[in-house]
Amino acid sequence: MAQLNPGKSDHPWLTPRAAYLHVPFCRTKCLYCDFNTYAGKDRLISEYVAALAGEIRARGAETGALPLRTVYFGGGTPSLLAVPQVRKLLDTLRDSCGVEPAAEVTLEANPGTFGPAYLEGLRALGVNRLSLGVQSLDDETLRRLARTHSAAAGLTAVRHARAAEIWSVNLDLIYGLPWQTIDTWRDHLTMALNTEPDHISLYALMVEEGTPLSTLVSRGQWEVPDQDAVADMYEAALPLLERAGFVHYEVSNWARPGHESRHNLVYWHNEAYLGCGAGAHSYVQGVRSWNVRPIEGYVRRVQSGAGVRAGDESLPVGEQVGETAALALRLRQEGLAFERFRSRFGIDPPARWTAQLAELSDMGLLEVDTDRARLTDKALLVNNEIASRFL
Ligand code: SF4
Repeated sequence: MAQLNPGKSDHPWLTPRAAYLHVPFCRTKCLYCDFNTYAGKDRLISEYVAALAGEIRARGAETGALPLRTVYFGGGTPSLLAVPQVRKLLDTLRDSCGVEPAAEVTLEANPGTFGPAYLEGLRALGVNRLSLGVQSLDDETLRRLARTHSAAAGLTAVRHARAAEIWSVNLDLIYGLPWQTIDTWRDHLTMALNTEPDHISLYALMVEEGTPLSTLVSRGQWEVPDQDAVADMYEAALPLLERAGFVHYEVSNWARPGHESRHNLVYWHNEAYLGCGAGAHSYVQGVRSWNVRPIEGYVRRVQSGAGVRAGDESLPVGEQVGETAALALRLRQEGLAFERFRSRFGIDPPARWTAQLAELSDMGLLEVDTDRARLTDKALLVNNEIASRFL
């Protein structure tokens, strides 16, 4: 069995250079959402921020002596935090872990929750990337899904980000929505591209068990496009994004050159990250752990010094190898880079997966060179099945 170079703990796959801070507050709960996030609890925000700062201080040593390269405020709706609250959290990270001056600092924001002054305040703190949850540009769809903003507010949010000179702006869009057709999807994606974002993430709608959407669909009250229609929507997006100058660098993500999400690349490289906040996950020194999920329980436990970890698992090296390969294949240009793999695991991918690489290459699903294996265009819609062959 390969070893994980146990003597060298400052490797990025062992010691985190990335921090995720979870902000579990939302104005409403969208009908499709199964994230650890809550509506109607804004009164707890200031207590929560204090607790989050407490967790960061308690765990700062986990990042070792090297400063963070990326910070990500995710949610939930982090743009419900006031500027001084974001400042407090960033200051705590700087004091407890260190943050590189050129670090990528992302904040997720929902349209309608902020104006230009808010973004200028964030930029002054060092937030240089905004990820906007635009999701759809159809007012009726947004309303029915219980999103709290209009299509126009989504477009205005991008303009505010531009006016505030936020360095990089991402738009999240969902396809496969109820009532969506391939024509409306194309039109809305084109409208989104006309705002000239730097990065686009496209997500197929997932009907998650236990959500109101799942109830509506299972009762036959709402209909979602079938698998073929969803696949057609994904394929229809590819030429539009290419013509607009985007590089398709990950199965669901497109960026202008230089605007790839450095934080998300940590996940796709299966490297270490520190996750703080209610329900946040961490991956440190080969151990995956997760925090208690309810806001109140999380705050209480930080305040009492009881510790917020709800569970953990140590991944056997064999599983780390498989997961790292499966995630790497999502990266369209980089792919499964053999040398990177050898230096991390001491494993030679062509020797370990000889049969898989040969078979998938013969089927036209993988392009295998001397130094890497990558998904072909034909493989994009079956990327999960291909990845599972490496687990
Ligand atoms: S805004 Fe995002 S996190 Fe909040 S409920 Fe809606 S989908 Fe979930």
